[in-house]
Amino acid sequence: MSTKLDVQNPYQKPGRLFDLPYVLQLGAGPTNCTIETLNILGSQPLTPISNKIFEIMNDIQSMLRYLYQTKNPCTLVAQTSGTGGNETMVINLTDPGETVVVACTGSWGIRVADMARRYKLNVIELVAGPGEVFSFEELEEVLIKNKPVVLFMTHGESSGGTLQPLDGLGDICHKHNCLLAVDAVVSVGVAPIFVDRWGIDAINGGSQKGLGAPPGMCLLSFSPRAYEKIVSKKHPPPQILDVQLLASVWACFNKQRGYVYTYSSNMLAAVRQALVHICEEGLQNVWKRHKESNELLVELSIKELNCTHFVKKIENRFAGVNCLVLPEDVKWRIVYQYCLEKYRAEISFGIGPTANKSIRVGLLALNATPETARYVINMLKDAFDYARNNVN
Ligand code: PMP
Repeated sequence: MSTKLDVQNPYQKPGRLFDLPYVLQLGAGPTNCTIETLNILGSQPLTPISNKIFEIMNDIQSMLRYLYQTKNPCTLVAQTSGTGGNETMVINLTDPGETVVVACTGSWGIRVADMARRYKLNVIELVAGPGEVFSFEELEEVLIKNKPVVLFMTHGESSGGTLQPLDGLGDICHKHNCLLAVDAVVSVGVAPIFVDRWGIDAINGGSQKGLGAPPGMCLLSFSPRAYEKIVSKKHPPPQILDVQLLASVWACFNKQRGYVYTYSSNMLAAVRQALVHICEEGLQNVWKRHKESNELLVELSIKELNCTHFVKKIENRFAGVNCLVLPEDVKWRIVYQYCLEKYRAEISFGIGPTANKSIRVGLLALNATPETARYVINMLKDAFDYARNNVN
């Protein structure tokens, strides 16, 4: 056998260590992590079937129930991003051919509708006006008319900056034999969520936003009502997103643990550490800190920078990712690049409903402080001056 290589070794000096730059994350996520959370990523991996990893999982599970305010046995973390978590909800709660309603307040809902169509569901896609959320009356009308098996909602919409009220929606869904599934990727650990009290049947949170861990994991919880559907559905979902298999790994119902894939113990430990930070501070304090610092940011950006908010009604605003419309003489591209180069700070530009209309500034996890809000305002002031003087 010839061992002559077909593809040559690309290694070039210097290049063995890739130096990731420090970035102050001030956009829609990912956000920065604490030193403790980063440090734990540097530990040696554990085998997926070891007592130490089970200890981490047990800790995560109980803290996750606190985070979501739920007693759901089926509460777990899956090794996939927020998108994978949404897909997990779609394919575990439905069978092809069934009707679902996807209420879209921005890009993320539209992506869920696309997932559902790919899974051959009959999709009723509702699209809210820019900066708007859905009223329960209009949602109930759609449920009565279409008799869906699941209603998908986005709680915090990071593309359009809205927060969809959910308190009471579960009861409405259940009255019409429908499950309520919620994308809380960006709102978990930022805005109040009461899974049991609000009657949410399935919820998916991200690791990289309000939680303050790196991206790549999603935080899932399913109500007993949702789990009934999961076990009774006809078409088994792909192994990697199968909630029944994941529930066995997480010993949700049974002490005997199953295996579905090798979890990254490093990432699980980072998620655990991020949850410890939230538990140490207390959930209500975490919510309050996010609300106050994000509201301060918006207030100062209106007063001192002459911005407006993309979401006109204050009660619709998601105090986590703030969609700021810049004064007309300030070009967002220049501001974005300037912040990155001078401050090593990354804000997000608009996407979906806010594309070319606003920038999106997020104070999430450890960055949700009044000090950071003021720092951002000073940074933007400088960037606006630069943008005004450097129009090309
Ligand atoms: N839903 C929402 C509301 C989000 O903000 C995001 C990420 N910006 C996602 C879903 C997708 O998450 P991920 O990028 O981790 O797949």
